[in-house]
Formats: sequence, C-alpha cells, structure tokens
Amino acid sequence: MTVAADGGPARNWAGNHTYARGSFSAPADLEELRRVVAGADRIRVLGTGHSFNDGVDTPGTQVSLRHLDHVSVDAAAGTALVGGGARYVDALPAIHAAGWALPNTGSLPHISVAGAVSTGTHGSGTGNRIAASAVAALTVVLPDGDLLTVRRGEPGFEGMVVGLGAKGVVAELELALVPTFDVVQDIHPGLPWERLLADPLAVMATGYSVSVFTRWVDEPGGTVGDVVVKHRTDDRRPAEEVEALLGRPQPGEAPSAMLGASEHLTPRGTPGPWFTRLPHFPPDGDPSFGDEDQSEWFVPLEHAVGAVAALRAAVDAAPAVFAEAMAVSELRTIAADDIWLSGSAGRASLAFHFTWRNVAARMDAVRAVEQALAPFTPRAHWGKTFTRPVDLGLWEHTEDWIAQRRALDPDGRFANGYLERLGLL
Ligand SMILES: Cc1cc2nc3c(=O)[nH]c(=O)nc-3n(C[C@H](O)[C@H](O)[C@H](O)COP(=O)(O)OP(=O)(O)OC[C@H]3O[C@@H](n4cnc5c(N)ncnc54)[C@H](O)[C@@H]3O)c2cc1C
Repeated sequence: MTVAADGGPARNWAGNHTYARGSFSAPADLEELRRVVAGADRIRVLGTGHSFNDGVDTPGTQVSLRHLDHVSVDAAAGTALVGGGARYVDALPAIHAAGWALPNTGSLPHISVAGAVSTGTHGSGTGNRIAASAVAALTVVLPDGDLLTVRRGEPGFEGMVVGLGAKGVVAELELALVPTFDVVQDIHPGLPWERLLADPLAVMATGYSVSVFTRWVDEPGGTVGDVVVKHRTDDRRPAEEVEALLGRPQPGEAPSAMLGASEHLTPRGTPGPWFTRLPHFPPDGDPSFGDEDQSEWFVPLEHAVGAVAALRAAVDAAPAVFAEAMAVSELRTIAADDIWLSGSAGRASLAFHFTWRNVAARMDAVRAVEQALAPFTPRAHWGKTFTRPVDLGLWEHTEDWIAQRRALDPDGRFANGYLERLGLL
C-alpha cells in the first residue's frame, strides 16, 4: 500500500483509483469520530479500499474507521456486534467459535463488514441473499455527530443498509447469525458449453453456493472453465446428480485453471467450517489477481438463458479485446431481498462478474458487456466499474432512498461526485 503525505492510503487496493480527498483522518474511538464528522464540511468513509470507483472520494475529509474494529458475539442471542471498521477476517473466527455462522460471505474476508454492506456485496447461492441481509441493526453517526440506531422492522431500515456511505457513518452493525455449519468445496473443470447455455440455473443449483469461472471461450474439450461448488455437509445433493451435470471434480490439491495456484485459494476436497470454505480466497494470502479492475451486473433469473448466450456472443464478436482485458469472469446467483438499493432488490439474480486486467482495453470490454446485457435490465454493482448511466428506474424504492438521504443529510455532508453522477442526491 502506498501511503500519501496525509497518512492515508494513496490508492485503492487494486491500485487503479487514486483517491481524491481534502484530508485524511483515522479517529481513535467513537467520540473522536463523532467530533470529526460534526466538524467536517464534507466527509466520506474509507473502508478497506476494495471498491473500484470514486465512491470514497470527497473534497473534504476521508475518514478511516480502522480503530473501530471491535467484535463481540452474543452466543445466547445468536448475534454479533461489529465496529464500523471491522473486517470479516476480524469477525468470522469469533462468530464460529461461539457456535454461529453467517449464511454466506463474499469471495474474500479482507474487506470491512460495513464497506461490504454499504455497496451490496454478495456471495453466491440461489438461496443466499446479499451480505446486508444479515444486518439486524446499524448505528450511524449523523452530520451533527449524533448517533442513530435503526433496527430491521423499523421504518426506513431497508434504505439504510445499502447506504453507499450517504446515510451517515456506520459506526456499528449488529449481525443476525445462523447455527454454524461445515462446507466442502469441489472444482469441476468438465462442464461443456452447450450444457451451460441450455440451462445455466440447473448448473447454479448444484450446491449451496456455486460459482462458474470462465473466460467465455471454449476451454480444452469445449468446456466452460472451473465450476466451484460449495456444499453444506449436512445438506448436499448426491454426488452422482452433480457429476451428471458438471462432470467429476478434480483432486482437491490441483490448482484452478481459472484462478491459479492452490495456496491462493481456500481448501478444496475436504470439509471445514463455513468461514474457511465460503470465501474463495484465504485471509493470509493475496486475493484475486492484484493489478486489476472489476465490474459486475445483476440480471433477473428469468433472463439467465438469454443473458448467458448474449455474453458468449459478445465475446465471440470481439475476441482480441476480451483476450487482452479479461483475467476471469464469474457467474453467481443471489436470492431476492427487500433492501432498497440491493442488486437483488425484489428479484432473484444471476450476477455476471468480470475481473479485468488493468489495461486500457478493459473499458472497451466493459462497454461491450454493458451493450450485450442491456436488453436484460442489468443493475450494476455499486462498488465496481461501469460506464453506462445507471437506470434508477430499475429499483422500486429509488425515490424513497433519495428522500431518506435528504432527510438524514440535508446539507449534503456525505455527498460526493459519485452520488451526484448516479443521480442519487
Ligand atoms: C479481490 C476482490 C474481491 C471482491 N469480491 C467481491 C465479492 O465476492 N462480492 C461482491 O459483491 N463484491 C466483491 N468485491 C467488491 C467489494 O466487496 C466491495 O467493493 C466492498 O464495498 C469493499 O469493501 P471496503 O471495506 O473495501 O469498502 P471501500 O471500498 O473502502 O468503500 C466502499 C463504499 O462503502 C462506504 N463505506 C465503507 N465503510 C463505511 C462505513 N463504516 N460507513 C459508511 N460507509 C462506508 C464507502 O464510503 C464507499 O462508498 C471484491 C473486491 C475485491 C478487490
């Protein structure tokens, strides 16, 4: 990480975005945070910096909550309290040790819980909702430094969770937990393209959490790439059913042709606690590729067949651009939820993720994907790279979200160019 003259990080984790800010602050505790917020003209929170756009930029103060990283688990209640700067890697082992779990995780535990919740971060699984769905309550610091706690069931809660940093500084989250469980994951490299094109949702239903990693070209034998299937050990589909669709899994110790070396990935082929298998990348290694950019779009499940075919055709039409720009792509499913600006608000989704190499051609590839998915009402991931104006009409509660933002922050202290460009001020 390159440190800027003001003591904060100069760039995001991927290194593709240089932060624009007036000053940087990392308060030691909640009281100092409240003073910093109340004293700032404009302010935005920096989480762990794993997003890919200017969402954290501000002409005023960029504030890090890295010292507010407390985690406590109430084993009797099945809830966890996490500070606004706590990362999943800080929270997950403690949650498991108390006999509990989160239903799902994103692909890496390095990110902050509040940052992940704020942008609608998700994992995979036809029955699994986004990370913000596990939030039972959140406490924010308002522009005047006052604290506001909103619990699920109270008015406006659904607008606060995926708040894009615009609804106050999230100082603490209460997470609702489920009993702990074990997971075993396998990589199936033998899925033929015609089977994915014919019925993508059958592929996505082969496990608790399924990710199809592909470069959208024929791999040897006309196969798609690597299908990563994560099964709960207490509730898994019979192996013969899964293999009839996906082919046999490769040995657990084998590297992934799509994601690289074994030590870069969480263990395959052996069961283990949920938090050691649901993320693709372990906490002690470098996740993903590094010098990269990412994009993702959410399409309703009923468009799965059309959207997968359209994407494959788009890559076939511009093979040189995609070969240069794409490191890998990942298909995931997400259950519908009631969170106002969730990518899956009101509709179960198939998510099309792309990890791009940090080359100029990636923007041509982004535009080609946006064009290919346009007929299928795509919603962009708030934390990643997109070029088309977001169609805010695709969310039922956009106007409610904006009205809530104006009520909580009438002077626009949490406003920035990102929110303005999106039309969310
Ligand atoms: C290698 C890699 C893998 C990824 N995998 C996934 C994945 O599996 N699924 C997925 O959906 N996404 C994924 N992402 C994207 C990532 O989860 C999101 O961008 C997430 O928001 C990053 O969290 P962060 O703490 O780094 O947030 P930041 O990038 O620091 O901030 C993101 C937004 O959250 C706001 N914010 C952060 N903390 C607070 C707070 N305490 N209060 C108010 N606002 C706050 C910021 O102001 C900003 O608007 C991945 C990213 C990388 C780099």
